[in-house]
Amino acid sequence: MRKKVIAGNWKMNKVSTEANQFVDEVGAKIPEDKNVEAIVCAPFPFLASLVDKTKDTNLKVAAQTMHYEESGAFTGEVSPVMLEDLGITHVVLGHSERREYYNETDETVNKKVHAAFNHHLVPIVCVGETLEQREANETMDHVENQVIKALEGLSDQQVAETIIAYEPIWAIGTGKTATSAEANEVCAYIRQVIAKLTSKETADHVVIQYGGSVKPANIEELLAQSDIDGALVGGASLQPESFLQLVEAGK
Ligand code: PGA
Repeated sequence: MRKKVIAGNWKMNKVSTEANQFVDEVGAKIPEDKNVEAIVCAPFPFLASLVDKTKDTNLKVAAQTMHYEESGAFTGEVSPVMLEDLGITHVVLGHSERREYYNETDETVNKKVHAAFNHHLVPIVCVGETLEQREANETMDHVENQVIKALEGLSDQQVAETIIAYEPIWAIGTGKTATSAEANEVCAYIRQVIAKLTSKETADHVVIQYGGSVKPANIEELLAQSDIDGALVGGASLQPESFLQLVEAGK
């Protein structure tokens, strides 16, 4: 059985005191449960402190992006070496907001996925279609292409360890969730694509999350689907109580 991974993507929210209070409150309440993993994806300035505060808890800390180079003249960027050195466990890559506003492409996402594995970071790779693509019946082709390109050159073992987050762009921050059947259809398709790239056994290991207006009221139905193994949650992950409810639903 695959574990459920509940990741809160804070995006560009909170100041230091709020971030620290959040993990003080939530960290101790995350159960030790091998079937559910809870992660907060926090802005860079808070990472060191949050890693320190969560070291004796079951809450993990992720970055929301990174560069693919290890060091160098890239003003403003953060490298995988820096994240590894801090004790970060996961990194979100290719979020649609990064693709839209910061020119991330399938090629740079692939470089970042390799860089993540080189530095013992688990990549959470985001894929998903726009509303226009969904209406033009291009969802499956688009998502397939994104998945194939993101995973290019990885070993089967690395593919098995990658987390994929299927996030239809039209459902992010809009209050519109894909129905659980719509979401599951795409997640199941992603698993088939991965099976073709590797093997059924490898594909059966891959954690595939759904993201896009997930909240305590709809997470249970989403997680009850055959191929949805967790959620990447923005808005509803910002409050401790609501984040804990989401994690509880993963149990
Ligand atoms: P949302 O964001 O839950 O606020 O829709 C999800 C995401 O962008 O990861």
